[in-house]
Amino acid sequence: QSITTDMGTLTKEIDKYARNKKIEIEALQVREEYRKEFLGNVSHELKTPLFTVQGYILTLLDGAMNDPKIRKQYLSRAGKGVERLIYIVKDLDMITKLEVGDLRLNFEVFDIIELTQNVYDLFEMRANKKNITLTFDLDYNEPIMVKADRERIQQVLTNLIVNSIKYGREKGTTEVSIENLIKNKVIVRVTDNGEGIDSEHVPRLFERFYRVDKSGSRKEGGSGLGLSIVKHIIEAHGEKIYVESELNVGSEFSFTLEKAE
Ligand code: ADP
Repeated sequence: QSITTDMGTLTKEIDKYARNKKIEIEALQVREEYRKEFLGNVSHELKTPLFTVQGYILTLLDGAMNDPKIRKQYLSRAGKGVERLIYIVKDLDMITKLEVGDLRLNFEVFDIIELTQNVYDLFEMRANKKNITLTFDLDYNEPIMVKADRERIQQVLTNLIVNSIKYGREKGTTEVSIENLIKNKVIVRVTDNGEGIDSEHVPRLFERFYRVDKSGSRKEGGSGLGLSIVKHIIEAHGEKIYVESELNVGSEFSFTLEKAE
């Protein structure tokens, strides 16, 4: 009797061990897939601007260099390609740090209204180029002090405002608003009436490299990393990020912050 029981226990133990091993192996396989996909995406994103730069350099060497007007134009386009590469590499650097948990947040107390105003001022001209009216809507006219990493929150605001201009329509609007929430939170909203996002894409927006328009011909440059950086930063603060969007109507991205005592 006792031998049978022992055998039963042993079989169960073996089964359990095998099950755990299987889960472990599956997790490794998922990670490996993830890694391959990441590398694939990185090389894909780098390839386009690299080939562009190479194209201009080769054409210049091929004789286009002799025409001063074309020379200047091609050099400036090659320069834009290099600039794009730099942005992508910076974003990659940031996302890697965020994903390995290497990015330490530097909490300080600052006025979120002032910071938003600074970012807003930086992009007003860019919005004007597309005839987009940028407005800044406030609940009160006094400072709202929050406790967060100022530099990172500046990046979050930058990414959201730049997106609302990039994906906004000509003569459209982008509205930034800050509102007190219940308890000790504020909510910052960036709203546009631009191209909007189809609901099937919304759940995947914050994935790295995810872009709704995958065609190489898309007119707006970017790495597809902006929103995943935004999400990482907000979540590292223990806060929440929300998105509401409707195709051809517009989008609203919002995030919460903790008020300083
Ligand atoms: P990128 O702008 O570099 O492509 P992001 O991670 O910032 O990458 O955004 C991912 C995708 O989400 C964009 O490619 C775009 O399709 C969509 N998106 C982001 N913000 C908006 C917005 N305000 N309106 C419409 N689509 C947006």
